[in-house]
Parts: sequence; C-alpha cells; structure tokens
Amino acid sequence: ININYNPTIEFDNVSFKYTDEFIFNDLSFTINRGEKVVILGSSGSGKSTILKLLMGFYKVNKGKIKIFGEDINNYDIHELRKYVSIVPQDIFLFNESIRWNVKFSDFDNVTDEEIIQSMKKSQIISLINQKTRTLDTKISEFGNSLSGGEKQRLSIARGLSKSAEIFIFDESTSALDLETENKLLENIFSELKDKTIIFITHRKSILKWFDKKIIIENGRDLNE
Ligand code: ATP
Ligand code: MG
Repeated sequence: ININYNPTIEFDNVSFKYTDEFIFNDLSFTINRGEKVVILGSSGSGKSTILKLLMGFYKVNKGKIKIFGEDINNYDIHELRKYVSIVPQDIFLFNESIRWNVKFSDFDNVTDEEIIQSMKKSQIISLINQKTRTLDTKISEFGNSLSGGEKQRLSIARGLSKSAEIFIFDESTSALDLETENKLLENIFSELKDKTIIFITHRKSILKWFDKKIIIENGRDLNE
C-alpha cells in the first residue's frame, strides 16, 4: 500500500443500489492527499453510504473506487481499514472502561498518555477529571448520564487515537454547541494537518474549515 499516492480517494462513475433504487448514478469525485473535504447533501442522499462503500461493506454495481490508486476490490479489507479511521454516525460504546472504549481498534498500540491527549483534543477530558472517574471507569458507572454530545466527543477521541492516513467523521459534531465544535475542529485540524480529512455534515458553521465540498444530490456530485 502506497500511502503517499495522490489522489488518496477516487470514485470513478460509481453506481450503487442497496435494493431496487439506485443511490448513486455515475458518481465521480477525487480527494487528494492531505485534502480537507466536506460532504453535504440532504438526509437520505447517500452520504453515509459513501463511507460504507469506502470501507468495503458493499460492492458497487458499476464503476470503481480507488484508494491510494488501487481498486478497493484488490485489497485485503482488514489491511485497508488500518489506514482509515472512521467516526461513524451511529456511535457504539461498550460497557468497558473509558480506556478500552477510546483504544478500541488499536488495542495494544495506544498509551494512556495518548488516550488523554486524544480526549483533551476532543474536548472530553472533563469526563475523567473528577477523583472518582478515571480511565478505568466503566461506561455503566456513568449510568445513562453520558449525553449525546459526550458520546460524540468520546467517539472522536477514539477516532483520533488511531494512527491512520484518512480520517472520516460522519455527523460527529451534530450535538455540540458552536463553541465546543469550533475548539474541537481547531484541534482536529492541527493534529491531522497532513492527513486526509472527510467530514460529513449538515452544519453550515463548519464549512470554512474545508478545501473542497462534495454535494450529493440525486446520486451525483452537484459540482460535476
Ligand atoms: P443522513 O443525513 O440522514 O445520515 P445519508 O445521506 O447518510 O442520510 P444514507 O445513510 O447513506 O443517507 O442512506 C441513503 C439511502 O439508502 C437512504 O434512503 C437509506 O434509507 C438507504 N439505506 C441505507 N442503508 C441501507 C441498507 N443497509 N439497506 C437498504 N437501504 C439502505
Ligand atoms: Mg448519514
């Protein structure tokens, strides 16, 4: 895998349907190495589907998806996933420690110090700043008291603690207030300066951070 290959991601005339109706019709776009890209589009337009296709969860009906210049069908999908960090729209936390939940996919390779740094950058360090709450505290010990925004920030901390080349955030700040969102984006963008970042969002407030917009409508990129 040549992670330095440019462009990082290519959708080349991709058509895709889950069932009988096509979600994408000849969708094409290119994301360059280190580029910061926002994906916009109405609810149900297929934004999260792009992410699922990139991860190889489904096969396209027509066209090609390339990552680092190679057709994703040619990859061992587990190998490919090492290079991509995803913060999904549907957050999943396990009733394990905070440490476990942040480390998650990179279990052996992330130190406590790195976890704490990721949590600081994700504006969620306050979760463990009280005497009784540490990295060892289990999610259940917070009762049902983790708010939607706290879950999102913990999930972002997980995403940031993975050493990857491509970082994808799917509606990851939708529950945050503007001030928290802004600080968090500042941290993400300085932390991942050289990485490729894809952000799926409805929030107009964050557009200023991005080099490129992909707008999904009727199965295509409106820019094309
Ligand atoms: P939102 O902004 O609400 O998150 P989205 O743009 O991310 O929407 P997708 O989740 O990509 O939209 O879904 C696109 C379309 O595909 C929707 O009509 C959805 O109902 C449908 N869809 C999603 N997943 C599946 C699936 N596994 N099987 C069948 N249809 C699906
Ligand atoms: Mg979605």
